[in-house]
Amino acid sequence: MQTRRTFLTSAGAAITVLPFAAYAARLEHQTFDSPGGDVSIYPIDHASFLIDSTAGLIAVDPVGHVDRIEQVGMPTTILITHEHGDHFDLDTIQALIALSPDAHLVVNPAVMDMLPDDLAARSTSMANGDATTRGAYEIEAIPAYNITEERLKFHPKGRDNGYVITHGDFRIYVSGDTEDTPEMRALQDIDLAFVCMNLPFTMESDAAASAVAEFAPTYVYPYHYRGRDGGTQDPAEFAAALPDGIAAKFGAWYPGA
Ligand code: ZN
Ligand code: ZN
Repeated sequence: MQTRRTFLTSAGAAITVLPFAAYAARLEHQTFDSPGGDVSIYPIDHASFLIDSTAGLIAVDPVGHVDRIEQVGMPTTILITHEHGDHFDLDTIQALIALSPDAHLVVNPAVMDMLPDDLAARSTSMANGDATTRGAYEIEAIPAYNITEERLKFHPKGRDNGYVITHGDFRIYVSGDTEDTPEMRALQDIDLAFVCMNLPFTMESDAAASAVAEFAPTYVYPYHYRGRDGGTQDPAEFAAALPDGIAAKFGAWYPGA
């Protein structure tokens, strides 16, 4: 097991050397120092966000808001966790490809089967446990699934992905839609995590906090915390349940609200 590393965050810092910096500065983001250079996070909406570094711009589960993504730059990688409409939207993907003709998709196998041929030709399908590289990013597919009996229908085990994305030893975990699975609890050396919480589709905030306490990332963003039918979870309640040493990060995940 590696020694835990500590990184300083420069939240809100206006310093970035990435292209389109003048425009990017207009969108809320937080920048994390890492051995491989700055990693900036741009929350976009609910489950959608951007990861930007010298290794390229990753659009995670982009759904709408192409204009806001364009302000940050052209995605080199579009990462899709699973097929649900709040994570996978063909129109958004086509619009991003039009912007960024060299962009490559990384998807789970079920989404691969839903892609038209032109998109499938530029896609890598990853099953749970698979690993791949995209430029200087390493990407590993982590199982994402429900474990509560009455929720099994939403995200059956083996279909959907979370991801660990590594850039220069900086390890980012994206939960996708999941509950507090053994695989989540067993994650190692995560610097920054994005963890979902909403009902009935994923989990309660206290289950999320319990899992996060166990795998102990340095930073964690509660995201994907609203749903239909009163499924809202309180990110502040989640943050309050975390042990010392794990810093919660908050973003404008619901820009229209
Ligand atoms: Zn889902
Ligand atoms: Zn979802």
